[in-house]
This record gives sequence, C-alpha cells and structure tokens, in this order.
Amino acid sequence: MASILDGKAISAKVRAEVQARAAAFTSAHGRPPALHVVLVGDDPASKVYVASKEKAAAKAGIAGKVHRLPAETTQDTLEALVGELNADPSIDGILVQLPLPKHLDAQAVLDRVDPSKDVDGLTPMSAGLLLDGRPGLRPCTPSGCMRLLLEAGLDDLSGKHALVIGRSLLVGKSIAVMLLAKNATVTIAHSRTADLAAECARADVVVAAVGRPELVKGSWLKEGAIVLDVGINRRDDGTLVGDVDFEGASARASWITPVPGGVGPMTIALLLENTVIAAERREG
Ligand code: NAP
Repeated sequence: MASILDGKAISAKVRAEVQARAAAFTSAHGRPPALHVVLVGDDPASKVYVASKEKAAAKAGIAGKVHRLPAETTQDTLEALVGELNADPSIDGILVQLPLPKHLDAQAVLDRVDPSKDVDGLTPMSAGLLLDGRPGLRPCTPSGCMRLLLEAGLDDLSGKHALVIGRSLLVGKSIAVMLLAKNATVTIAHSRTADLAAECARADVVVAAVGRPELVKGSWLKEGAIVLDVGINRRDDGTLVGDVDFEGASARASWITPVPGGVGPMTIALLLENTVIAAERREG
C-alpha cells in the first residue's frame, strides 16, 4: 500500500518558513512583501482559488490586493493595469489568474508582466531561465511537486525514469525540465501518445497533469512507482477527483499524492514563497 505524500502537512511547513522570511523582510525594509492578483470575470473555480491565495497570503504576512475586473474588460484595460502594477515599486509579485475570458489574449497579458514580479513563473523570461537551469521564478505547481519529493526524501532521481503526462507550460513542460535537472530520464506524454499504459509501465515517477478524471489506471503502473497527481476534476456530485485512479494506484505505488490534499496546497505555498523571493531580490 502506497504512503501518502501529504501536501497539507508539507505545505504547512513551507508556509511557516515563508511567514518567517516575510517577517524578516518586513523588519528589514519597513514594509511587507506585496502580492497583487488580477481576476477577470466570474469563473467560479478561479474565484475560489483567488480567495484561497488571498487568505494564505494574509496569514503569511504578505500584503496584497485582488483587482477584480468585469468579464467584459478589454485587452487594453487589462494590459494597462499590468503596466501600472509593474511600475509600482511597492508591489513585488503580480499574478494574473487564468483562464481569462475567451476574448482576451492571455499570452499577450503574461508577456507584459515584469519578469522580476512574475510569481507565477509563466513569462517567457521565467520559462527561458528554467530551461537554462538559471535562477528565476519557477511555476508554482511544478515547483510544489518537486518540493513534495524533496521533503519526502524522494528527490534522488539519477537513473530513474520519469513520465510526465501533459505538456502545458503551467505544469507538464515545466516539471519535465525540473525532473531533468534532477537527472531523471524524462518522457513527456500527451494526447497523441500512442500507448500511455506502456509508457507508465516503465516509469519510476509518474506525474499526471491532464485534466481527465482517473485516466491513469493502477494496473498501468510499475510496482513501487511514485505518483504525483496534479489533476483537479470535479465530479457531477461536486467531489474532486484526480487524473489517477487513486484506489488502484495506491495498491501498486510506493508514494502517491491524494486529491484533494496533495499538489493543490503546495501550489499556494510556492506562490507565497515566490512572492518573498521576488521581494528579497527586488530589494537587493
Ligand atoms: P492543459 O493545459 O489542458 O493540458 C493538458 C495536457 O494533457 C495537454 O498537454 C494534453 O495534450 C494532455 N492530454 C489530454 N488528454 C490526454 C490523454 N487522453 N492522454 C494523454 N495526455 C492527454 O492543462 P494544465 O493546465 O496543464 O492542467 C492539467 C490538470 O492539472 C488540470 O486538471 C488542472 O485543473 C490541474 N491543475 C492543478 C493544479 C494544482 O494546483 N493542483 C494547478 C494547475 C493545474 P495535448 O497537448 O496533446 O493537447
């Protein structure tokens, strides 16, 4: 039976560390680190995520504001707001909550974010620094996955096969680069992959970031695999389920993240950590 990679417990530890760093920053610079979040429209899931981020930031001693804009906001208005936040020296981190309403060009908005304030790690500059293995602000969800491995003592990946299912910058591509940096041999699977079960069968680490409920079956996994389930899917009855069949996978894996309570809480903790890192770097 797999051990649980407990994102609630590990994220609490990360948040406590962030709180201490935020307090030290505040006494050194006479102001707390500041995170500004931009939320456009009424997407219910985004509203919940933003509320969680707001609450977690306040608890960690990070100041901030949520800019709530109507769904019909224009590209120019949104980009102008990002420009204002870039120019304000008291703001350390800017996060544009995705997805944006369909009429808006999310990439163009992200391209406007000052890389030194890019706490979501999604600007081209941040992506380039990650790819090149240079210091920079990393995307929060993949960083959160890597921190789970580190805290559980599972981060020695030399000689291991890692399979990442999904190729978004937000998760799949970014964690593939992070796993590579830890010397794993990495395969990236996606919707055109011919035989996902066969790819899973040779993976010591499986990261599922797809958005398809219980796509990955327990019977596909190698005995003793480490499973990081990034997926968050809402069933008709309102409950949440990951991209991995948790029951089946638990019988074969050595470690597994639950959904909820696995990767999700880590994402928020790493956003707070990125905000403090950005603040410290900006103040030199
Ligand atoms: P995304 O941009 O929609 O990417 C999904 C990826 O899955 C794509 O690369 C797609 O392949 C691939 N895919 C789709 N169907 C597949 C299949 N049948 N077999 C193999 N690959 C398949 O999604 P995302 O933003 O990366 O998010 C993925 C999941 O993680 C979602 O459930 C999301 O809610 C969740 N998420 C969770 C957190 C958290 O904090 N826990 C944070 C972010 C995202 P193609 O590229 O070929 O289309």
